Amino acid sequence: MDRDKILLTPGPLTTTLRTKLAMLRDWGSWDADFNAVTASVRKSLLAIVHGAESHVVVPLQGSGTFSVEAAIATVVPRDGHVLVLDNGAYCKRAARLTMLMGRRCTLMPFDEAQPVSAGDLEHTLRGDASISHVVLIHCETGAGVLNPLQAVADVCARNGKGLIVDAMSSFGALEIDARKTRFDALVAASGKCLEGVPGMGFVFIRKAILDGCAGNSQSLAMDLHDQYLYMEKTTQWRFTPPTHVVVALHEAIAQFEEEGGQPARLARYTRNYETLVAAMAALGFKPFLDPAVQAPIIVTFHAPADARYDFKTFYAAARRRGFLLYPGKLTTLETFRVGCIGAIGPTEIEQAVHAVALALQDMGIASGAPARS
Ligand SMILES: *Cc1c(COP(=O)(O)O)cnc(C)c1O
Repeated sequence: MDRDKILLTPGPLTTTLRTKLAMLRDWGSWDADFNAVTASVRKSLLAIVHGAESHVVVPLQGSGTFSVEAAIATVVPRDGHVLVLDNGAYCKRAARLTMLMGRRCTLMPFDEAQPVSAGDLEHTLRGDASISHVVLIHCETGAGVLNPLQAVADVCARNGKGLIVDAMSSFGALEIDARKTRFDALVAASGKCLEGVPGMGFVFIRKAILDGCAGNSQSLAMDLHDQYLYMEKTTQWRFTPPTHVVVALHEAIAQFEEEGGQPARLARYTRNYETLVAAMAALGFKPFLDPAVQAPIIVTFHAPADARYDFKTFYAAARRRGFLLYPGKLTTLETFRVGCIGAIGPTEIEQAVHAVALALQDMGIASGAPARS
């Protein structure tokens, strides 16, 4: 059968046929038709965060991490000091790329099962005047925790610190309002909750800090200030644009708007999440997180206690039935993850859990229940 598998992963994810069909044409990077698509995408992105007054948006070629790296390179001066609020794998990645770019970086550790604390952040900022910027991962895709963006932004604003937000897995699904929430840079990408295909990121930069970003970047390709100036002057991308990704994102955004924008997307993902957790619970599976701190984006489940369980076999058995699961990313516990995002609804989630039930049967496992802790 040549039917695509359903991707229960946090990007790439399942896209609509309409989005895929948008990629069947060739586009010239200098051509006015293509540059109009870029302009339209940028305008729509700014509207999603109500940021047209306060921010600009700069797209960048590459996967989401390229844009995180570019945001930090562009916004943080070379003698800046970055504090990364760390409650998971994507936080550690942000810290590592910050250090590799030669910026001073401090990790502030939190429990990976809990949101970071804005109160603790305030205490740390008061005790160390050298910190210039704070990095927050909005939804920590490692475990699936929702971090307190508004509270962290308020602390940064009160203490005069720059805030850089990795909103990769939340943008488009969770509310982000630039009129209420002050951030210097916020990063997301084409292939997550906007349901485009992977291949480009984009960074919102606060207009008030834009001029001061000139010359910060130690990298030519990662310099968003330069990319911005070039795009404003010429309407073109600085280097070869990912043309098919851009037109697919344009089509995906049209469907996002038709669906009802961010509130409608959140509502669908929430139904996916609720369907998933209820159906998995009927098989004995237990989520790792307390529902109170869980974003409806990706769910980490404990591995079953049964000694016959092994992720590779489990993955292959679900895959044969058309569903791709995602491995866990916790440091100590054996887990696996299931994404709730993409062009899927509760029907696909029910079918996925049915595939999981059959996978357990294949493995001779009676229940998905984890070991008692
Ligand atoms: C997906 C994701 C990224 C980017 O990962 P890439 O593999 O580079 O696309 C960064 N941060 C978070 C929180 C993510 O979910």
